[in-house]
Amino acid sequence: MERPNAWKAYDAAAIAELEELCGDYRAFISENKTERECVTASVAAAREAGYMSLDEAAALGRELTAGDKIYATCHNKTIMLVNLGTQPIEQGMNILGAHIDSPRLDLKQNPLYEAGDMAYLDTHYYGGVKAYHWVATPLALHGVVCKKDGTTVEVRVGEDANDPVFCISDLLIHLASDQLKKPAAEAVDHENLDVIVGGRPVVIEGDEEEKEPVKRFFLDLLTEKYGIDEEDFLSAELEVVPAGAAREMGLDRSMILGYGQDDRVCAYTSLAAQLAVTEVERTSVCLLVDKEEIGSVGASGMTSRFFENTVAEIMALAGEGSSLALRRALANSRMLSSDVSAGFDTLYADRFEKKNAAFMGHGLCFNKYTGSRGKGGSNDADAEYMALVRDIMDEAGVAFQTCELGRIGAGGGGTIAYILAEYGMDVIDAGVAVLSMHSLWEISNKADVYEAYKGYKAFIERA
Ligand code: MN
Ligand code: MN
Repeated sequence: MERPNAWKAYDAAAIAELEELCGDYRAFISENKTERECVTASVAAAREAGYMSLDEAAALGRELTAGDKIYATCHNKTIMLVNLGTQPIEQGMNILGAHIDSPRLDLKQNPLYEAGDMAYLDTHYYGGVKAYHWVATPLALHGVVCKKDGTTVEVRVGEDANDPVFCISDLLIHLASDQLKKPAAEAVDHENLDVIVGGRPVVIEGDEEEKEPVKRFFLDLLTEKYGIDEEDFLSAELEVVPAGAAREMGLDRSMILGYGQDDRVCAYTSLAAQLAVTEVERTSVCLLVDKEEIGSVGASGMTSRFFENTVAEIMALAGEGSSLALRRALANSRMLSSDVSAGFDTLYADRFEKKNAAFMGHGLCFNKYTGSRGKGGSNDADAEYMALVRDIMDEAGVAFQTCELGRIGAGGGGTIAYILAEYGMDVIDAGVAVLSMHSLWEISNKADVYEAYKGYKAFIERA
């Protein structure tokens, strides 16, 4: 059973729609490289589309009704958008969920040191990172520094054409005979992912000596540009990410090369679908969450009570405030857990089982199950639900494929699917195939981005 390449079915109008969506998507992932930046951009897009904050909704002084559009954020790193349908929420919601955190290098709490007349920032990697990807490549610094006076300073260096960038050095090949004999996992030590940020000492007139003059020069610049000092790193969240914009890829411009497509390709298309469908019968929800890459833990991860509490708040404002109604709403819901899939890579063909692999350009990927060692840890979606999803996709003319994450025993992975499934709702993994997942520059195919958007829209409208 082969699924056709989605590009073959497009007319000029479809190509125009695809290019517009993918242009906007490229801009989104170029501008927004942290979960905080994604939340800020999502709030702006939601407000422009007529959404109000949960606080504003509470202050309305009337019961929420069909057509009311609400958003709520959690620790500035997770966001939920809700479009109230004509049906009571108790009958269930149609939920699109994706994650907006991506693998990267976080600065340690005490990151700064000087050695060899250079200043370095020490990092602790976040998520599944191959350390050797991160050396000898231009890097940018994004994040926030929260000061004791309650103010927050936003930092973003390395993206504009005139910005400086940062870099982690690699050992020259001339001295690398020992390094090159090591397994790839050990060739670069994660502890050595220290970013070079300065190479110029302060010069002090007179007899005074500065013990660490390059570090001092760097700190003076931080104070001058951001009003922060070394102690302020203690209360900062600064992320080292690849510098530069996402690009069109291939002479035919059919693909996108960009950082953080896991999982912003699903997050962006879910958000766009949520904002595009204005009137719904079943309440639609778009959930963009943090911390998926480290197990969905913490206050802003999917396992926190934020989602459930926000649904409870909104149901109360809609006159459906009982705890039984909340439980029913959650159990009656349907969800697409939208996360990227492993695209078939012919250079590593033996890691895949071709009949059940996702092919680039063949449309939205449905993973009935994920997991490893016998579907371990997986949400295994019901056949009944898969039948409904197939019907929705076919009726809306969405190109889709079904797949597994590689051949049995090759590895494995999980998503947020199992967490929502705990409420008893129907959940299936649905996302975009990418190549080089978790590398600095992941590859997607524009047709798959477009089909994901169409699929998410169809799901909101008809699930
Ligand atoms: Mn993911
Ligand atoms: Mn991932």
